[in-house]
Amino acid sequence: MSNRLRQIPSVDRLLGEPALQERVAFYGHRLVVTAVRETLAAVRKEVRAGAEVPPREALAARAVAHLENRLAPLFRPVINATGVIIHTNLGRSPLSAAARTAVEAAARGYSNLEYDLPEGRRGHRTDHVERILCELTGAEAALVVNNNAGAVLLALAGLAQGRGVLISRGQLVEIGGGFRIPDVMARSGARLIEVGTTNRTHRADYERVLQQEPDVALILRAHHSNFRIVGFTAEVGIAELVDLGTTYGVPVMDDLGSGALLDTSAFGLAHEPTVQESVEAGAAVVCFSGDKLLGGPQAGIIVGKAEFVDPLKRHPLARALRIDKLCLAALQATLFHYLRGEATQEIPIWRMIAAPVAEIDRRAKRWRRWLRRAGIEATVVDGRSTVGGGSLPGETLPTRLLALPVSDPDGVATALRAANPPVVARIEDDQLLLDPRTVLPEEEKALLRALQEAIT
Ligand SMILES: *Cc1c(COP(=O)(O)O)cnc(C)c1O
Repeated sequence: MSNRLRQIPSVDRLLGEPALQERVAFYGHRLVVTAVRETLAAVRKEVRAGAEVPPREALAARAVAHLENRLAPLFRPVINATGVIIHTNLGRSPLSAAARTAVEAAARGYSNLEYDLPEGRRGHRTDHVERILCELTGAEAALVVNNNAGAVLLALAGLAQGRGVLISRGQLVEIGGGFRIPDVMARSGARLIEVGTTNRTHRADYERVLQQEPDVALILRAHHSNFRIVGFTAEVGIAELVDLGTTYGVPVMDDLGSGALLDTSAFGLAHEPTVQESVEAGAAVVCFSGDKLLGGPQAGIIVGKAEFVDPLKRHPLARALRIDKLCLAALQATLFHYLRGEATQEIPIWRMIAAPVAEIDRRAKRWRRWLRRAGIEATVVDGRSTVGGGSLPGETLPTRLLALPVSDPDGVATALRAANPPVVARIEDDQLLLDPRTVLPEEEKALLRALQEAIT
């Protein structure tokens, strides 16, 4: 055994392998040495347990895999062929060309981020987008923070700390990533008051509690986001909640989650509540995300009545949750698409939602022709795309999918994820499926090359 242990190359020896030298040029010396050390330590253990010493090239490949998959996995572009348009694991909304240009410009040099140019003195970070948000939503006031979870936390802390907040038991939801309404409520210092039942909550349920509870700061409505209650159900709509709130002198907060500015029912989907509807109904504060159905960067947006929104700007949490300048630049550019009425042409997720099936079919067939020339027989089949991102749960769009006739779909899917750039596909009924709807046109060549390599 000690003989075999001596066959294991030294760290320096293994570092000389071309595959590792290539990585040194990119990652620098230190990380690659660590990868080699840890790999050799693992191999030594295996050899002590009776394994053979792998050839040097295999050792180098193992160190590279350890480096790239475990030590320093790169944050990098991925091709989304899953058909889930707002895919939280894949970075939610891709940005429009104008938003990308705005990010580049904001990153390149200085900006008037917190500088009032006409006055030549300190300005406010989110002045740039607040007016636009008011214009688009009809709200009196607006505020932008880091993300919607932060917006909800800030609104609850600012408006209800130490006081009661009413919410239907059917809306005590977990959005994902550990964001649970009851937990956020607890962290904000507000006291949760549950109303009604899981499946049915009526106006009278709210009224009973409003008559009994002495110190209610808010009535909260939270969007279900990622699930649907079907069957014997009842919920009180936003307009009726506002009516109730007016009667009892309690403001209404609406956590819309996704926060659409456009009507999804125009695209064959169910109607997702819009921000304008909540504002119009008279909600005091409305919270939504920047990177869900808005189609912009990560951000948390609060719009509503000035009397409730403006004090939140001065809350200490607002500083802790502030939006970064690159996201602000992208958000402003995204909002301009709505102002110019070009959202469905310019914002990638809306272009994907609005894409006609005939166009998707043409793309899938073009992919099929390309693969056939490479000796791979694929088929084009009917399927469904989903919107995702905690919006429109259970709703799908008809699409056309490229189906690949492979005996080992999991193996090919793994190979696709290892491609450069990585491709994430979908497996259904033992079939490997790719949905052109979520693949950007400029990604097609790379996708087809990755497919060819993974299959042959
Ligand atoms: C997604 C979502 C959130 C969290 O928004 P982030 O922007 O991801 O922080 C909060 N509430 C609801 C209802 C959501 O759907």
